[in-house]
Parts: sequence; structure tokens; C-alpha cells
Amino acid sequence: MVTITAAVARRPKEPLTIEALDLAPPRPDEVLVRLTATGVCHTDINYRDQIYEIDLPVVLGHEGAGVVEELGDQVEGLVPGDHVVLGYSTCGRCTLCRSGNPAYCVHVPMLNLQGNRPDGSSAFGGDVRSHFFGQSSFATHAVVPAGNLVVVPPEVPLELLGPLGCGVQTGAGAVLRSLRVPAGAALVVFGAGAVGLSAVMAGAAAGAHPIIVVDRVDARRALAAELGATATVNADQDDPVAAVRDLTGGGADFAIEAVGKPTVLHQAVHSLGAMGVCGLVGGVGPGVKAEFDWQHVQLNGITIRGVIEGDSVSADFVPQLIDLYRRGRLPLEKIVRFYDLADVNTAMADADAGLTVKPVLRIAEGRT
Ligand SMILES: [Zn+2]
Ligand SMILES: [Zn+2]
Repeated sequence: MVTITAAVARRPKEPLTIEALDLAPPRPDEVLVRLTATGVCHTDINYRDQIYEIDLPVVLGHEGAGVVEELGDQVEGLVPGDHVVLGYSTCGRCTLCRSGNPAYCVHVPMLNLQGNRPDGSSAFGGDVRSHFFGQSSFATHAVVPAGNLVVVPPEVPLELLGPLGCGVQTGAGAVLRSLRVPAGAALVVFGAGAVGLSAVMAGAAAGAHPIIVVDRVDARRALAAELGATATVNADQDDPVAAVRDLTGGGADFAIEAVGKPTVLHQAVHSLGAMGVCGLVGGVGPGVKAEFDWQHVQLNGITIRGVIEGDSVSADFVPQLIDLYRRGRLPLEKIVRFYDLADVNTAMADADAGLTVKPVLRIAEGRT
């Protein structure tokens, strides 16, 4: 048993509270990780606010990076001291897992989104739920299923790598894995948050051209241009569909909807030219409907495709993303701003207000 510090979501839409909790030792297939940093994702905010439902109280956080501290009896292939990125939980046994599509594992909701282990137990022992996305990483330590961990090279700054486990993997994976955007393809990204900008960086690395970014916030469009966008559109000033069709000479080959709004999805679909593919990446609650012109989609052979976690197999894709980072193609430091764990509520507010693209909580003993 270790006593840890964690940010606990106790009531809907209210600030998280920093608390001391007892964390049980890892089970035979689990690992105790001392967290170095953890990203704040809009999904955490949506769970705090109960846009996505989860039983409270819970420790949120699902973009952790840290150091292996203690191994369960059956864990192989890891040693204490390993630097790791914490991915999401999958069952590893269903047809989707076995066919290399773990993001669509039939057990993903049960394993990640209810809090606690599949048997209902919490690593905190009491009523506070653990194992959110298999990790609950708004904390100094987490007990994590060994299969979620991706070992990363110790010389790469660990504090930047947590978002590779969700937001960055989602945006970059949408481009490189789900849509497989080839060199020379016209790509438009709606929404220049962490996921959208990760898609931009991946599009630039893939050689897409042009890369158009649609966003309302001036600073985000400027950052998009720095990260590889060849043109940007202010949706408050210009009609994005007309602008994209103009900039691409008839319509984009690929569109990424990274906002999560029906009106934006409509624009994304209508920005596409013949045989265009739209990836739905933005998160929405249940029951949201969107519409588009049937004939436009049909006559142009357009595909609209849902994307979760960029179709990533974290064990393979996180190392590829680190390789891109090392080659300067995924400059994570340009989208990240650091906060202390104790300032998690400021980090969430800044993300919500669009002031920070990707807040990352730095977690060090004595700093909370
Ligand atoms: Zn599965
Ligand atoms: Zn996320």
C-alpha cells in the first residue's frame, strides 16, 4: 500500500479536489507506475461534467507517462525504472483486438469508461474509482494493467510523452492510420486543438498538400501555420466550405472533424471533393445527430468514417510517434503547457477556454 496524492472528481462540473488516497499494490498482471506527467484531454473535462456519464467520485486522467516502480508477479518484459507511456485498456482477446483494431475492442467501454477494474474493484479500496482508461493518472502513482504500458527511450523527455497515449495518437493516427493520407493529398482539418494540430503535424510529415486548418481562434491558426498548415480559414469570417473548395480547386481529398459539432461535420463533408474521406474525430455525447446532403455524398463517392484513438495499436504507434518527435516532425513542445498537479482545475479551465492547446500536469513528489 502506498499513500498517493490524486485529483478527485467528486461532484459533476465542480473543481477536482487534491486528496491523499491509499493505493493497493499491483495485482499479478498490473504495474505500479510513478507518474512524471499526465496530459489533460477534453474527455477528462467531459467526464467531470458528466457529458459522458461515469459514477463519481473518480480519479480521471488518461494521458499518463511515468516510471515503473513495482511489478505484479506475472508481469514480463518490464523492469523497475523503465520509462513508460500509459495507453488505454483493451481485452486483447476479442475479434477486433486479434485483428489489430483494439480501439474498437468490444470491451473498451467496460475496461476504460466506468472506472474501476472489470470486477468492479478499485485500487483505492473505497468509493473513489480507479482505472479510468486503465490508469486514473491525475495522481502521483497509478496501478495499471501491464498490457497498457509502452516502454519509451529514457533520453526522450518523458514529461512530453503522456499525450501520445490519447490526444496526439488520436489526431496523428487519424491521418496516418485511419485515413492513410498520402503525399500530395489535400487535407483539411477542422479544429486546431491538440487533436487537430496533431493531425496537422502528421499530415505535414506525410507530405499532404495543401493542409488547410479551419478554426475561430487567431492564436490557434497561427500555431497551425507554424506546425505545417499551408493555409488557414477563420470560420467566423469566411465560409469554410467555399474557402476549402477554392484553395483545393474543387474540394479536399481528406477532412478531419476535430471539433465535435454537427455544423462543423456538415462543413467537413461538404468541403470534400470526389472520393473524399471524412474522419470523425471530435467527441460528442450520445444521441447527437448530424446532417449532410445525400446527393453530394453519393455522387462524389464520399466516405464518412468514425475514428477512435486514431485506430492505433499503442505498442506500435507510440514508438513511431516518438521517432517523428526525434526527427523534429512532431514538435510536441509547441502544443504543450505545463501545470502542477495541484493546478489541475486551472489546466482544465484553460483547455476549455482554448487558452492552452494541451495542458500537461507535471507530477513530482513534493510538488503537489
Ligand atoms: Zn478486445
Ligand atoms: Zn483523451
